[in-house]
Formats: sequence, structure tokens, C-alpha cells
Amino acid sequence: MEKEIDEKKQGTSLVLEHKEENTKKLFIESYGCAMNFSDSEIVASILTEQGYNTTQNLEEADLVLVNTCSIRDKAEMTVRKRLEKYNAVKRSINPGMKVGVLGCMAERLKSQFLEEEKIVDMVVGPDAYKDLPNLLKEVEEGRDAINVILSKDETYGDIAPVRLNSNGVNAFVSITRGCDNMCTFCVVPFTRGRERSREPQSIIEEIQDLWNRGFKEVCLLGQNVDSYLWYGGGLKKDFDKATDMQKATATDFAQLLEQCAVAFPKMRFRFSTSNPQDMHEEVLHVIAKYDNVCNYIHLPVQSGSTRILKEMNRQHTREEYMELVDKIKRIIPECSISQDMITGFPTETEEDHQDTLSLMEYVEYDFGYMFAYSERPGTLAARKMKDDVPEEVKKRRLQEVVDLQQILSEKRTKRFLGQTVEILIEKESKKSDKHWSGRNSENVVTVFPKEHYKEGDFVLVKVTDCTTATLIGEAVGYGPMQTN
Ligand code: SF4
Repeated sequence: MEKEIDEKKQGTSLVLEHKEENTKKLFIESYGCAMNFSDSEIVASILTEQGYNTTQNLEEADLVLVNTCSIRDKAEMTVRKRLEKYNAVKRSINPGMKVGVLGCMAERLKSQFLEEEKIVDMVVGPDAYKDLPNLLKEVEEGRDAINVILSKDETYGDIAPVRLNSNGVNAFVSITRGCDNMCTFCVVPFTRGRERSREPQSIIEEIQDLWNRGFKEVCLLGQNVDSYLWYGGGLKKDFDKATDMQKATATDFAQLLEQCAVAFPKMRFRFSTSNPQDMHEEVLHVIAKYDNVCNYIHLPVQSGSTRILKEMNRQHTREEYMELVDKIKRIIPECSISQDMITGFPTETEEDHQDTLSLMEYVEYDFGYMFAYSERPGTLAARKMKDDVPEEVKKRRLQEVVDLQQILSEKRTKRFLGQTVEILIEKESKKSDKHWSGRNSENVVTVFPKEHYKEGDFVLVKVTDCTTATLIGEAVGYGPMQTN
């Protein structure tokens, strides 16, 4: 395996991994959540062993793969537009190219995808990527190929990801797959299957490899990291059938996070995504205890109304969520918290909406991901609940949530004015090639003049100004996390 620096692109050095002897070209693009981007690195690794190197040039690709998202209608429309683009390139420039769809939309639509989109040669679900070599053989023999079987134990823990579009500084490491929570609006349990966790040793080995290659930050990834539980393999829901020895030696998320923090004291750790109903207090104490575990928690809530939370099958009330937030602020006073919010869920009243706004004011989120409800085929909500909130009401409520978050983000970002924060340099600032950009432990983007510092450095920055979401400052020296 040869590691080669590609040309400067947008000011960030792009590390592309390829094998000299490989002759075929793979163009792979990903949409949706970080899990999809992480999965695409697994796919690239599997195909590197099949003679493919990745290319950024669609027109020269032998194989084109799109890793799809199904979380909202808009996400699926984006994929269909990309398929039109591939079709145009195939007809005009690259008639030999083969096209495959991966991810949640592939799992949701299955063979329907092949019927609806003639450009598509292959449909592969999130748990079937190891079958790609066989599926490609079928495609090369002129047949359409499909594998959308969901697995009870696949975690790809034995596959070393090929880092795609990497800055060589921070990387995702997936620790668990699937979700058992069955929120009524969500397709994930249907497209990614039941929860299963990856063996801790394989996670530590992947982080060791990243450390050896100069990476400085890892984000531990899962649809629901808080319910991470390794007890020798198998589904989370079967834990009660485990032996006493398996139960006694099991590793939960707090223990895994601590193992990582201790094993790599100069590596920074983040994690995503948490679920309030599964978050344990021990995780908070690990964050508070280790400087290399970031003071930031992404804590989706979706609604501030207990009645709507019940309709969403979220296993907590408004009050229980507020108690968790109180606990977070007590144990990690400077912690940043971000949210996911849905407006206009079926039967949502103006009063429910006001509950959402008042919860946001109570938590004072640092930022959030906010969307109007989009009915997803196959979900419980789609089957049992009428999408009865008018679009204009959904949109008006969404705008009110976004406007309030803007006010809260500004207030939260201002708390760093005059402080000195430790930043990990990730890339060049979008706005100036004379400035670096990186994040502090609380996940706030910070921009400062480059001077003699470089990507991957931990730098202390004196904050002199800020916008709603960005800190601006001057470097005052290397940070305690800097190794050399
Ligand atoms: S916790 Fe709920 S929203 Fe999140 S992935 Fe699982 S089912 Fe979907």
C-alpha cells in the first residue's frame, strides 16, 4: 500500500491511498450521516483488494458507487439527481462504467431500485459490503446484482478503512451498527438493522493505526453510541442470554471511551450520536476526567413536548431530558450540547411547539440540526399517523426554531471571548488562505493567522472576537496536547 500526497486542493493536503498495481478506478461519493462516510471507507478498502484505486474523476471511473441516505425525502431526491448525472456521463463519455447504489436508500428500496433506475447495475445494503467482490462478478457477467440482507453480527471490525478525502488529522471510527430504538419517524432501524457492537481490541488497533499515521482526533461513531455493549459478539438485545462470564467481562460505552482516552493520551476523542434514553452518567464522568475527551455532546431530542415525544416513541419525557442536561452541566460545567429537532410531527399543536422553544431556552444549545417532519415510507408514523400539520405551519415553526437557535448559538459562542482555547488545526480557513481553522474541545470552529503552525498542531488561541458560530483570535503558543 503506497501513501501519496495529492496536489494542494482548497488549501488542504489530500491524502489518497492507492496500490500501484491496481488498474481499475472507483469513484465513490457519500450522502447523509457520518456512518455512511465511514462505511464508504470500508467499501473503498474492500475494493482496493479487488484492484480498484479511488478517483475523484467521475468520467474516468470503471465503477461508480453512491452511498445513499433515506432520512428525508429530499435526501433521496438528491440521489436520483446524481443518477441522472451518471447517466449523462455514461451516455456521452464513459459507456463502460458500472453503477452501484449503497446505504439506506438501497436497503429501503431493494430490487425496486433496479426497476426504477435503469442506470443502476448493483444494489447493496449497509451490511452486505463484504459481498461486493461476488456482486461485481455478476455485474461483469452482465447481470444486475443485489444483496440487502441485514446482519446480526457484521461490524466490519476486521476491515482497515481507506481514508477518503481525508485531511490526515481527524477520522471516524465506527464502534456500533444498527439501532433498536424504533423512533416512529425513523427509517434507520429498517435500513441498518439491530444494534451490535464492535470488539474493543479491533477499535483500539484501528486507532493505533491512525495514531501511527499522524492523525490527532478520532470521532467514535454509531447510530446510538450510548448503547455500545461488547460481550463477545451478537446483538445487544440478546445480552440477557449471555453467560455470567460474558456479562462480567462486558465492555460498555463509558469503559470503551476510558480505554481509548488512557491508551492514546495525546489523541483527542469525540463521539456521535448519543441518545438521551441510553446515556449513562459514567460517560459524563469519563468526559470530565480526561482532557483528551472533548467537552461536547450531540444530544438529539426531536421535540420539547412530552406528548409528542411519546408519539415519537422516544423513551424519555421532557422532564427526564432536562434532568440529564442538568447532570451534564453539573458534571461538565463547560460542556457544549447540540440538538436534533423536528417540527410539525403529526398532531403537533402550537402548545407542543412552544414546549420545544422553551426547552431550547432551558438547555441553551450551542447549535443544532433542525428539520420539518418528512414522512418516511415504512416507518410506524407513516403507517399509523396522518401527516396532518400543514406544510406552511411546519415551515413557520421550523423558522422559529432556527431563529431561536441562532440567538442561543451567538450567546454560547460569546462565552469564549477573552479566553485562551486549545485548537486542533484541521484545515485552511474557507475565507482566507492566510488563516488556519480548527475546533476547540467544545466543538466551536476557531480561525486564526497561520504563522509557523501547521495542520495537526494543537495551538493555544487567545479569542479576540467571534461571529454567531466562529471564534476569531491569535495563536499564543502550542497547546498541552501537542506532542513535539
Ligand atoms: S435513536 Fe431513533 S432517531 Fe436515532 S437512529 Fe435510532 S430510531 Fe433513528
